[in-house]
Amino acid sequence: MTTSPAVKISILMDNRAKPGFLSEHGFAVWIESGNQKLLFDAGGSDALTHNAERMGIDLSAANYLVLSHGHYDHTGYVAELLNQHPHVKVLMHPKATQQRYSIHPGKGPKDISMPSEAASVLQAHPSDQKTVTEEPHELWPWLGSSGAIPRTHPLEDTGGPFFMDAEGRVPDHIEDDLALWIKTPRGLVILTGCCHAGLINTVEQIKTVTGETSIYAVIGGLHLKAAKEPRIAATLDALKQWNPDYLIPCHCTGDNVIDILQQELGYCVKPGRSGMQLMISPQISMLTE
Ligand SMILES: [Zn+2]
Ligand SMILES: [Zn+2]
Repeated sequence: MTTSPAVKISILMDNRAKPGFLSEHGFAVWIESGNQKLLFDAGGSDALTHNAERMGIDLSAANYLVLSHGHYDHTGYVAELLNQHPHVKVLMHPKATQQRYSIHPGKGPKDISMPSEAASVLQAHPSDQKTVTEEPHELWPWLGSSGAIPRTHPLEDTGGPFFMDAEGRVPDHIEDDLALWIKTPRGLVILTGCCHAGLINTVEQIKTVTGETSIYAVIGGLHLKAAKEPRIAATLDALKQWNPDYLIPCHCTGDNVIDILQQELGYCVKPGRSGMQLMISPQISMLTE
């Protein structure tokens, strides 16, 4: 298998932060290996620029922006990034720009679409600079996207009251949800945004797409805070089988679920936060918490 010679994964924005870093309800990760650099999701605002500066990351050097899905908390910095750095290539699902809502019982509808300016900038981005596809897509031989993720597991759902309309008539299955895979010298690293497709569905899809089975790390939002016990149990069983060296739950995973993951899986679980970095090379793997 073609692996990255060495890769550094930096959490640029998360709901929690290391001292000196900013947090928000949002998610963004920076991935780099030599000159190959990628921004996976773009936080809920431009606050990630502060964290990037602190970590010595030059966002203008990004080759790619990949969107895990179109929610506002993953697309806050999209317009500014592409306006300032139009050379950045984009990978996203065709439905990422659609209008959508969450409707929690007793509350009115909340528009959780990406900012309209982000949608317009993405729309206007040159077509030879963007890949808008439902299919799995390889960006480099060592890194690619899952493509749209088949929803086969009976217990997994999107994790929330998501709708396409403000009246709550048409459910939003968040079909645009995708994940990234990285082939590292130590096995696959899987990066999720909110994991609305479910973690088991996501990992199974990536195993199919890559033909790899050894999972080194899972990093990202898992959106399990409202999940019922049987789904949590199935997720735990799957994680025990995959046996990753690192599980780094971020963003929307849910504090209640992070506690359960730590109790059940122990040392491999490292709650994510802005400023965290994982460096993986053939010689060394190092997590800076
Ligand atoms: Zn999210
Ligand atoms: Zn989401």
